[in-house]
Amino acid sequence: MSRQPEPRLQRRLKSARFVTDASATFSTEPPLVHDKPQTISPLVRRVTAANPSHMTGAGTNTYLVGNDEVLVIDPGPEDAAHTKALLKAAKGRIRWIMCTHTHPDHSPGVPALKAETGAEVMAWSNRGGLRTDRRLRDGDQLITDEFTITAVHTPGHAGNHLCFMLEEERLLFSGDHIMQGSTVVITPPDGDMGAYLESLAKVRALNLNAIAPAHGHIITDPNTVIDWYTAHRLEREAQLHGLLLEMGSARIAELVEAAYVPLDPVLIPMAKRSVHSHLRKLADEGKVEGTGARGVWSVI
Ligand SMILES: [Zn+2]
Repeated sequence: MSRQPEPRLQRRLKSARFVTDASATFSTEPPLVHDKPQTISPLVRRVTAANPSHMTGAGTNTYLVGNDEVLVIDPGPEDAAHTKALLKAAKGRIRWIMCTHTHPDHSPGVPALKAETGAEVMAWSNRGGLRTDRRLRDGDQLITDEFTITAVHTPGHAGNHLCFMLEEERLLFSGDHIMQGSTVVITPPDGDMGAYLESLAKVRALNLNAIAPAHGHIITDPNTVIDWYTAHRLEREAQLHGLLLEMGSARIAELVEAAYVPLDPVLIPMAKRSVHSHLRKLADEGKVEGTGARGVWSVI
């Protein structure tokens, strides 16, 4: 399958967005600071881990909720300096730990924090080395004297992904479901584009004031961002379906080359995963067929 896109096709796709789109910046907050607590609201502080990369942005945001008794959301990677920063910020008041999901930049920091505090660990499932004390399900709540947190199951980025709503502020801790400043990588088979779009609609209906993502700044216009995320995915899906209609059949690498113009080479692996996830959704809908990340895909 040699698939050099037709020149006409190239031109039409020049305006296609990158996987990570720097234009999607929604906040003018000062820069994120590693391992120093930053006050977000009367109930919330943020401590950003020093694990910056093209996947994590400035690093993983850990959030501390509450003042008298503290809930830690996403302790982050295994990093002694970060654990120390969390303990120092919380001053011996950590009672609970919740994880949005079990990717390596979110939950490996749990055991050290649990060992120091004895806090109750809560997440959707035990994976990636995480051991929970309690498994959360959609709608489960933690109700304290100061705040109420509601778990919202949001599969898509990961099958075991939860967002957490701080009811008092209508603030959603979005983990990797929604990030500030970039789109989210959906990696099959655990990542599922169809489920992801459904989970975007689910949080869109929550009447949010703001979103506190695991990567990037606070998002103060949540509906605008969610609508952009949704439109971007549907635009990409239509583009890939159109490409396959014109090409007849293609491998994922060929679709990436045609659809992402230009693309920074460092982002190609992420683009491939994203295209794969779109193709799987189209296959579920009976529009295309193909086999895996390296096989040939074609229209039905
Ligand atoms: Zn993740």
